[in-house]
Amino acid sequence: MDSNFAFLLPVMMLIFGCTFLIVSRFGSREAKLWGPGYLFAAAAFSVPLIDSLVAERTASLIADALFLISFIFYSGALLARFGLPSWLAQRFGFSGAIYAGILYAVLVLQSIPVEFLLDDLGCAALLAFAIATSLRRVRHAADRVLLAVSGLVVADTVIRNIVFVFIIPSYGGHDDFISSQYAFYMQASASILALMFALAALAAATFDTITAHRDAAERDPLTGMFNRRGFDRMVDERGRVQGAVIICDIDNFKWVNDTFGHGAGDEVIRAFARILQVRLPEGGFAARFGGEEFVIFLPETPLVAGADFANRARLAFAAIDRKAIGFDGKPIGSDGGITASFGVAGANPADHSLYEQIARADKALYGAKEAGRNKVMVEGEPPSDMSGPRVVSVA
Ligand code: GH3
Ligand code: MG
Ligand code: MG
Repeated sequence: MDSNFAFLLPVMMLIFGCTFLIVSRFGSREAKLWGPGYLFAAAAFSVPLIDSLVAERTASLIADALFLISFIFYSGALLARFGLPSWLAQRFGFSGAIYAGILYAVLVLQSIPVEFLLDDLGCAALLAFAIATSLRRVRHAADRVLLAVSGLVVADTVIRNIVFVFIIPSYGGHDDFISSQYAFYMQASASILALMFALAALAAATFDTITAHRDAAERDPLTGMFNRRGFDRMVDERGRVQGAVIICDIDNFKWVNDTFGHGAGDEVIRAFARILQVRLPEGGFAARFGGEEFVIFLPETPLVAGADFANRARLAFAAIDRKAIGFDGKPIGSDGGITASFGVAGANPADHSLYEQIARADKALYGAKEAGRNKVMVEGEPPSDMSGPRVVSVA
């Protein structure tokens, strides 16, 4: 190998290995596997540097093993990234078989080409398996870039070995080929691909870590719903879509806390959040704005259909089996149902932002509380009670 490459690659791999280990400290599961993968690769690329210390055959057997191990980590990292089973036993078993073949090639056949071929194709197969398994889990651009570059690494490895098998003889042997211009380009392209592969993996892991932290900052830990910050972003992303806004609040919640305890209160909030969330239509979103107050946006929904949504949620919540959400073994709500009140507002062309509509829904909610709670009120002067049975046109 050209001496420049021999020096550069281990350093590059070492830097990536350390970078991935740092990224893994921010909670990235895949980075925990890319990190050791690159450290093993750094060790593998360092082996030629200590060539003089051990017999050449031993050195190359050590390098082969290190490369296989690094690809076990790479393929594991891809599988982890896409939330797939690790297939660890199978990948280990396969690598063990490949290594047994390498030992046979080196110790019995004494064939360097067969040794290289087995090691390279073993590594490529580990990666190809992870790519093929991950394809159906692609979600966004970072995934696509990572899988595409991984595919290039596999293709490059396969092509390189075909070249070795079929072209080296025409160069008059291995040593003549290594000093050829063609071999130089081949090594250069392999190094560039290795760099691209590492960068794509790093970009993907970093992207995931940032997304996970953003999601955590935008979610309410008790219910998993958006918090105010997440809601604000969804409002921005909504664009020009208009719809109905519902704001709702659990009735006499202070009493629930005082009577059954704060833990039971939390369970009631969770149960209410679930009722809202499972009913959300496509494109709709809901958020916990504070304590026991929630805001819902229903896209392209007229006022009356919004009121209908609210009324169904109201009835479902009032009908919940309180024993099922009892806390510390004590069922709650035996003194009567726990209910919620709802205010609904429709889109108004004069609104400057969704928050004006929310303010109108909030006023209607206040009306529902005034009118005795467990009601759905629709904006207007005065707000009208939409809790009773009514026919909603589906058309
Ligand atoms: P109303 O029918 O008028 O809405 O009366 P309310 O008692 O529900 O209203 P109020 O706003 O007075 O009480 C809300 C209570 O919710 C007070 C607060 O301690 C409690 N709370 C806020 N956040 C949480 C929470 O995360 N968990 C629990 N268990 N209680 C909470
Ligand atoms: Mg309340
Ligand atoms: Mg409240």
